[in-house]
Amino acid sequence: MFEDTHTEHVLLTPGPTPIHPRAQKALMRGMLGHMDPEVFALNREIQADLRVMYGTEPEAFTALLAGTGSLGMEAGFANLVEKGDEVLVCANGSFGRRMAEMAARYGAKVRLVTAPLGEAINPEDVANHIDGVAMVAVVHGETSTGVLNPVPEIAELVRRSGALFTVDAVTTAGMEPFRMQDWGVDYAYTGAQKCLSAPPGLAPIAVSERAFARFDSRRSPTPLWYCDFGGLKDYWIDHTYHHTVPVNLHYAFHAALQAALEEGLENRQHRVRMMGRVITRTLEPYGFSHYVRKEADRLPTVLALRLPEGFDDAGVRQALRKREISVTGGLGPTAGVIWRLGLMGESAHPEPYRKLMAALQDLMGEPGLLPRYEEVLAEETVQKPALLSV
Ligand SMILES: *Cc1c(COP(=O)(O)O)cnc(C)c1O
Repeated sequence: MFEDTHTEHVLLTPGPTPIHPRAQKALMRGMLGHMDPEVFALNREIQADLRVMYGTEPEAFTALLAGTGSLGMEAGFANLVEKGDEVLVCANGSFGRRMAEMAARYGAKVRLVTAPLGEAINPEDVANHIDGVAMVAVVHGETSTGVLNPVPEIAELVRRSGALFTVDAVTTAGMEPFRMQDWGVDYAYTGAQKCLSAPPGLAPIAVSERAFARFDSRRSPTPLWYCDFGGLKDYWIDHTYHHTVPVNLHYAFHAALQAALEEGLENRQHRVRMMGRVITRTLEPYGFSHYVRKEADRLPTVLALRLPEGFDDAGVRQALRKREISVTGGLGPTAGVIWRLGLMGESAHPEPYRKLMAALQDLMGEPGLLPRYEEVLAEETVQKPALLSV
């Protein structure tokens, strides 16, 4: 039976993240229709804030899709790929492979560029396979392994080739500065429940003018009616009915995005790095270590830590779950080998990790663990105390 006792549950997973208090409050607002002028005004603010979050050109089209991050991914391929197009997909984890599968379903001939598990895509490999492709697609931060792919370097190659550039920004946008215009990204998406700590169910997207021109010159309509860019424009620009948008989720998303921009993307970037250092330095003496070897390849928002020798992964996570703390393990080949600690949005604060450290201290029988956390935290916050609400 489902029990409504989860208000104190500590979510340290790589999505969903703990809901932002302002987003939670916004969910209480009264219902309005999807065609109400107030909702259109709210949508306009969301669109403007998304341009800031993604760093787009001033007139870029931004919108929320009524679905999760995967719908953002699917909509890009559905609108921008036609049967027979060559699409280069960088796949060094499960979300990269998801991109490849979707691109193929929309008729693309997929060229895969891979990298060993736990390593970033090498831009040279992209350069060697880019000739003649219509689109290059890459996951910025690969959640399945905690790897950050070198998007600015890949972007430069794509710019020279003239291909469209699609970037999965699910674990980065809203937490890391994202420079859609400077890098030359044509299509980017994320999920509301990741770096922004809004409820799941919305995929914020941004489309460059160049991508829209490609969409306008399609030989056949997109097979995905629900997310047809033209249909989205009807609603988001011309304010005519296309489908009933989830207004209550828009309220919550608006509140969460405003909170993120008020905090400042650079402050958020510092906050996530600082928490990453605190957690790693606390746990290193107990046998935890970085799974991703090269520092430059580490995704700050999903901390992948190799577990100590002989650590009972499943048992400890089950015991944590009983204490209302959720932690995520590895996937496939990394199952039982790593933990993937979420540092997106509201999870990157001292308090939720303090609860984890207290529980681990108890479960591992290591009385020095929590004191060490406090000590390292104090050291790391001494430089920038204002960033963290301790
Ligand atoms: C979570 C995630 C997705 C998919 O998002 P859903 O909201 O689960 O559909 C896509 N890409 C990356 C990198 C993710 O972390």
